[in-house]
Amino acid sequence: MRLTPVTDDIFRIVLPPLRHMNAYLAGEVLVDAGLGLHARGILKALDRRTVTANVVTHAHGDHVGGSKTIRDELGVPVWCGPGDVDAVQSGKPAAASPVQALFRWKPVQVARELREGDEVGPGFTVLDVAGHSPGQIALWRERDRTLICADVFLNVEFYTGLPGLHEPPRLEPQLVLFGHGKPLRDPAKLKVFAQKLPRD
Ligand SMILES: [Zn+2]
Repeated sequence: MRLTPVTDDIFRIVLPPLRHMNAYLAGEVLVDAGLGLHARGILKALDRRTVTANVVTHAHGDHVGGSKTIRDELGVPVWCGPGDVDAVQSGKPAAASPVQALFRWKPVQVARELREGDEVGPGFTVLDVAGHSPGQIALWRERDRTLICADVFLNVEFYTGLPGLHEPPRLEPQLVLFGHGKPLRDPAKLKVFAQKLPRD
């Protein structure tokens, strides 16, 4: 595993073996931490870079799995949305799909609840995009229109319960960084994709 630059201050960490799972280093903030088996590789990829927090976009095992080990090794606090605190601290997802329910993780203490509008990392603002999990968050940076969207675009049901204000496509991002898959630098493509998703 290694850090692959996507902007001048954001790196993508592609997680094996499927290589569609991602963690990110945004400034000094590690966003997500893969499965438990990824923790050592992520620590190695981070090398001696300064990390000051681990933001968990949502409490699913493929995003929070490595957080306990990373917190213990680096001494960094774990932050997540208020609706996911119980899950992160208990080691199992709330109301998960049968597949997600299989993924447990080492429980880890949440040091800060991230709420809509909170500032984190290099210029990012927290968006409440609950749905895929009760406390899912995304990170939005207006200055270069970068969206770290967690699993928003992987979960179609997400759209049915989502207040319009928080719909990521209305942000018109220039760069979208997914929990799964490659970065997307074509906002027109994203718009077309989002418009095809079913809605209420
Ligand atoms: Zn995921």
